[in-house]
Amino acid sequence: MRLPAPGWNFEMLPFALKKLLFYAYKRGMMSMFGCAFCQIAAHKKPADILYEDEHCLVFRDIHPKAPVHLLVIPRKHLVSLNEGSEEDKALLGHLLIVVGKMAKDQRIDGTGYRTIINTNAEAGQTIFHLHIHLLGGRILHWPPG
Ligand code: AMP
Ligand code: ZN
Repeated sequence: MRLPAPGWNFEMLPFALKKLLFYAYKRGMMSMFGCAFCQIAAHKKPADILYEDEHCLVFRDIHPKAPVHLLVIPRKHLVSLNEGSEEDKALLGHLLIVVGKMAKDQRIDGTGYRTIINTNAEAGQTIFHLHIHLLGGRILHWPPG
């Protein structure tokens, strides 16, 4: 019987290297290189940015589903709400405050707007950097698809 050739796996790495890679991943450093939204946040990829501060930014969705369709993202690379921890409490609160401000800014606070956070594939998440959709400027039906 032929045994499969030994392949590479994460467990084979020395402990210190594993710790370093895990820490880098947690801090979002690794994803900086591959994540479209990290690149937008770093101004390395173009986007129609409407607002930014030290913690987050807001830009127009490239394929708008409503007259107003903005994305509010943290600068920190969080994959989704599944990754949010106590450490991110203030940041997550800040994102919602910014959503409210942007809705006022876009004059959709009176008529109404919808905020959506898709988490993982079956909910329709396609970009794995946490983002809040802010949609408005038309009647939004309920329930969503
Ligand atoms: P989701 O499907 O919830 O992960 O949402 C990702 C959203 O990001 C979609 O609505 C896309 O149209 C939008 N999107 C993807 N790439 C870009 C980009 N480079 N600039 C602006 N919006 C983008
Ligand atoms: Zn990212």
